[in-house]
Amino acid sequence: MEYYIGIDLGGTNIAAGLVNSELKVVDSVSCPTALPRPAAQVEADMAALCRTLVEKNGLTLADLAWVGIGTPGSVDPTIGFVGFNANFGYHNWYLGPDMEKLLGCKVYVENDANAAAYGEYAAGALKGASFAIMITLGTGVGAGIILDGKLYSGYNHSGGELGHMVIVKDGRPCMCGRRGCWEKYASARALAEDMQAVLRANPEDALWKKLDGNIEKVDARFVFDAVAQGSKTAKAILENYQEYVACGLTNLINIFQPEIVCVGGGVSKQGEILLAPIRSYVDREEYARTGEKRAQIVPAQLFNDAGIVGAALLGCQG
Ligand SMILES: [Zn+2]
Repeated sequence: MEYYIGIDLGGTNIAAGLVNSELKVVDSVSCPTALPRPAAQVEADMAALCRTLVEKNGLTLADLAWVGIGTPGSVDPTIGFVGFNANFGYHNWYLGPDMEKLLGCKVYVENDANAAAYGEYAAGALKGASFAIMITLGTGVGAGIILDGKLYSGYNHSGGELGHMVIVKDGRPCMCGRRGCWEKYASARALAEDMQAVLRANPEDALWKKLDGNIEKVDARFVFDAVAQGSKTAKAILENYQEYVACGLTNLINIFQPEIVCVGGGVSKQGEILLAPIRSYVDREEYARTGEKRAQIVPAQLFNDAGIVGAALLGCQG
């Protein structure tokens, strides 16, 4: 049995998992990312998590085939180099070579959304599809593109940031500097914020009873629960949200014509309640809608493990 470690380096937590050659997460550990702090300290914590994992499971670092890391930012995977990572404030970061020195084994680095997409391609919903896209609806909209069986990130490794495609000119301001980016309308956070705005404007709405006056309790899950309980307010918000998700997805399908698009993130656990209305919008608007070969829209399969399994599989790329 071969073993790998996959590390999901997030803005809040660093999660590391020991993954076996059957792609099972055998064990996982985590620690806070605790930003802001120097990159060397984050590297030391990642190395400590790896040592803990192998020791807990009766292995040594020498038993690992490799370690894979998914990180935010633009990544040149050929040299494990993070060009810029705005969330962390790290630039020109030789993450791969640094970690190889600390661990003494091969280390692969990739953008986190690309790593998750690769995980779905190697072992999840995108398996067997040479042209595929994964989008993750979370705090933002993450994305990974598989073209002809390979991750695509463009000439400078900053490509595939599909969440920053503008779908509303002069729309909501985004931290990337543009206005009207897809993720300002289609992320899980946008769904929650839209619900909060409507409730603030409607102090008499029955949904306030579930909140004890605390609007911060409204997250994406709250919206789905409210729809299930018959709230017309929540239903209207969800339908509007689904149109925004579908509008961007239709653009992507028209550009790439992938065989499969998989949708990840916590909201994708809602399955058909989320996806069925999105599919019918795409069916009405997609350019190739009369053709026989049509992109399928399906939920992601690896869910919470997507970051770890995707990172762990990075070394499998041919
Ligand atoms: Zn943006």
